[in-house]
Amino acid sequence: MTKDSYTSTLRAAALELGAELFGVADVRHFLSPEYTGNRPQDFMESARSVIVLGVAVPRGSIESLPKGRAEYTNTLMAGTATLRLIAFRLARRIERDGYRATIVPTEGSEFGYWYADRETLMADMSIKYAAYAAGLGSYGANHLLITDEFGTRIRMTAVVTDAPLGDGGDPSRPFLHEDCKECMRCVAACPAGAFTADGTIDRKKCADYMFHTLGGLRCGLCIQACPK
Ligand code: SF4
Ligand code: SF4
Repeated sequence: MTKDSYTSTLRAAALELGAELFGVADVRHFLSPEYTGNRPQDFMESARSVIVLGVAVPRGSIESLPKGRAEYTNTLMAGTATLRLIAFRLARRIERDGYRATIVPTEGSEFGYWYADRETLMADMSIKYAAYAAGLGSYGANHLLITDEFGTRIRMTAVVTDAPLGDGGDPSRPFLHEDCKECMRCVAACPAGAFTADGTIDRKKCADYMFHTLGGLRCGLCIQACPK
């Protein structure tokens, strides 16, 4: 099977399992100078491809913010659980086909332990960057990925594998979404002042707001503000 036909087979399998977004990035994208985070090659030396999987977050949970924070948080976690099952089954499928696969966490912190570095909040790799590299969207001023299909209303995970797959990257896609310049609604909406219109972000401010001020519930106001 060619790598493009194997990619199509895995796409069909992922959609059958319930994924609403599917894309593939070659791990070499993570060597680009524009990427400064940790790389999938750091935890899987043989990695060749990153499969990005997503499910859309129901609009009702976002529109009910800020009063419906509990419902929003629970809805997000339901998305995480859904992705975990889809990714697990896809990873097992890939291994039955003779390759290796492992699953990247959707959450930075969960069940009282941390997947991301507790101080810097850096993950082992950026799923958002993988999605951008796979051609699924561009970054917004809120530092989230604005996907073509679901805007910022998306929950994602990634499967890192040594299977050679067809890269979905689009070199003409801008890194920053072109509509943000005239908008900046998310900057005004952030109660923690975590990011600014000039592109800087202080992730600790966001994390402190959610984990301390909100007692662990998710905020989501930068997603609610986004018209995409
Ligand atoms: S989730 Fe809330 S606190 Fe965090 S960046 Fe978005 S608006 Fe700001
Ligand atoms: S709210 Fe506006 S500026 Fe912020 S990410 Fe969405 S489109 Fe871009």
